Amino acid sequence: MRIMVSACLAGENCKYNGGNNLNENVRKLMDGNEVITVCPEVLGGLPTPRVPSEIRNGTVISKDGRVVDAAFRAGAEKCLKIALELQPDLIVLQSRSPSCGVKQRYDGSFTGTLINGSGVAAELLIKHGFHVIDAEDL
Ligand code: SF4
Repeated sequence: MRIMVSACLAGENCKYNGGNNLNENVRKLMDGNEVITVCPEVLGGLPTPRVPSEIRNGTVISKDGRVVDAAFRAGAEKCLKIALELQPDLIVLQSRSPSCGVKQRYDGSFTGTLINGSGVAAELLIKHGFHVIDAEDL
C-alpha cells in the first residue's frame, strides 16, 4: 500500500515550533508500506519555526495578525499535485492543524477553541476524492 502522511507525524521537525508530532501508530503503519511525507506549510514556503496560524472565517491568519492564506493554499495545492501524481491509497494527517486537520480545527480566535471542519490541505485532498483520515483515528 502507498500512504501519504503529514511529515511531522513521521518525526520530521517541521512543526510551527520546530518540533514534530511523532506518532507510534503512524510509525507502525509506515513499516512495510510505501511512504510519502508532506508538510503543506513548508511546501507553501513558510519557515520553521513559524508563528502558529488558525483559520478565521475561511482565511488563514497568523497569531501575530498577518494574512498567510496564500502560503497555506499554495502548500495545499502542492500536496494535491503530489497526491495526484503518486496516487496514495491512504492519506493520514495530523489532527487539528489549520493545514492537516481532518475532523476538527481551531476556530481562529487563538483561544484553543475547536470547531468541526478541516484544514486547507486536508479539505482539498478530500474534495479530490482521496481517502484521508485523521491520525487520531488510526
Ligand atoms: S502543516 Fe501538517 S505536516 Fe506540516 S507541521 Fe503542520 S500538521 Fe505537520
